[in-house]
Amino acid sequence: MTRFRSLETADLAGKRVLVRVDLNVPMADGAITDDTRLRAVLPTIHYLSTKGAKTILLAHFDRPKGKRVPEMSLAPIAKPLSALLEQPVLFGDDCIGKPAYDVITRLENGGVALLENLRFHPGEEKNDPAFVTELAALGDLYVNDAFSAAHRAHASTDGVARLLTAYPGLSMQRELEALDAALGAPKRPVLGIVGGSKVSTKLDLLNNLVTRLDRLAIGGGMANTFLAAQGIDVGASLCEHDLGDTAREIMESAKKAGCELLLPVDVVTATEFKANAAHKVQGLDSIAANESILDAGPETTKRLLAAMDASATLIWNGPLGVFELPPFDAATVAAAKHAAELTTAGKLIAVAGGGDTVAALNHAGVAAEMTFVSTAGGAFLEWMEGKELPGVEALQV
Ligand code: AMP
Repeated sequence: MTRFRSLETADLAGKRVLVRVDLNVPMADGAITDDTRLRAVLPTIHYLSTKGAKTILLAHFDRPKGKRVPEMSLAPIAKPLSALLEQPVLFGDDCIGKPAYDVITRLENGGVALLENLRFHPGEEKNDPAFVTELAALGDLYVNDAFSAAHRAHASTDGVARLLTAYPGLSMQRELEALDAALGAPKRPVLGIVGGSKVSTKLDLLNNLVTRLDRLAIGGGMANTFLAAQGIDVGASLCEHDLGDTAREIMESAKKAGCELLLPVDVVTATEFKANAAHKVQGLDSIAANESILDAGPETTKRLLAAMDASATLIWNGPLGVFELPPFDAATVAAAKHAAELTTAGKLIAVAGGGDTVAALNHAGVAAEMTFVSTAGGAFLEWMEGKELPGVEALQV
C-alpha cells in the first residue's frame, strides 16, 4: 500500500482541490431514499476543509449520455450534502467554463463547491483530452474518493488524475486497504464465498478466485450449475445446463491451484418460488423434476461455518440462496452471523461486497460488524476478477 500518496502529506491550505466523488444516490420524487454515498464522502471533505483547502466536488449522476438532462442535475444534492456536512455547499451550474470558475472564485479557504453532472459533457466518458484539460485547469490538486467509479477510465477518474498531483480520498484509501487485506496480501487461509444467481455473470471472478484462495464455497443458483455438471439431477432449479463444460473447467483449475471447492451436500427445495412456500431439506440424489433448490441445506451450512472457523480471511460475494424470500434466507443469514461473530472476536477479516451482497448482509443485520463491506458494485466485482481498475491505477505514484 505504499503505491499511493497520502493526503496527510499534502500541503492543502488555500489550494483548489478537485475531488471526484460518487453522489449517484437513489432518488424518488426528488428526494434521496438512501444517503449512504453522501455519508461516505464526508470524512474527506471534512479533512480538506479543516486543512483550509477549497474543495471542488466532481461527480456524475445517472446516464445523461453527454447531454444536459435537467432531471439528472446534481443541483438537488447540494442541500442535503450541505446539511450532512454542516457547512454551505455552493453549486456551479456547469463542471467547466465560466459557471465553474465563478463558483470557485467565490470559495473561501475551507469552503465547498459542487459542480454540475460531469456526464452532461460527452468528453467525460470519452476521456477526451480537451475536456480533461478544462477540468484540470479548475484545480491545483486532485483527490479520488469514488472507488465505485474506479473501473471506468473517464476524464474525471483517469485523465485529470494524470495531469494533477493525485491522491486517494479517505474512503478510497480505506477501501483499497480492505481489498488489499482480502486478496492482495491476505492472512491465510483465505476462504471465498461466491453465491448469487448465475455462473455466466461470474466466470472471470470464479476463474480468478480459484487461483488465489485456499477454499471457495459456491452457493446460490450458480451452485446448481456445478452440481448438474457432476451429473446431479437438479430438477426445476435455476441452472445453466449449457455451462457444464465451463463448470468442470473451473473445478479442474481449482484442483490444479490447490483451492478446495465447497459445493452443497444438501439443499432446501420447494415447488413454488414464493415466501414461506412449502419446502423440504434433502440430499442431492432425490430432487424431483418439479422441485427447485432455493437454499443450501443445514449440513452444507455447518460445513461452511467450520470452513470459516478454519480461515483467517473471508471474501464474500453473492447470497447462498433466495434470501429475499424467507425461509430461503436461512443459510445466508447463518453464514453472515457467523462471519460477524468471528470478526467481532478478532478471529476473521471479513470483506464483502458486490450486487446483492450488501442487501443480504443488511437483511442479516450484520453489515456493520464485517471488517469491510463495499457498496461499489461493478468496481468491486472487477477487482475480485483480478482486473486493474483505471481509476486506481491513475493514482499510483
Ligand atoms: P447475483 O445478482 O448474481 O449476485 O444474484 C443474486 C440473486 O440470486 C438474489 O436475488 C437471489 O435471490 C438469487 N438466488 C440465490 N440463490 C438462488 C437459487 N438457488 N435459485 C434462484 N435464485 C437464487
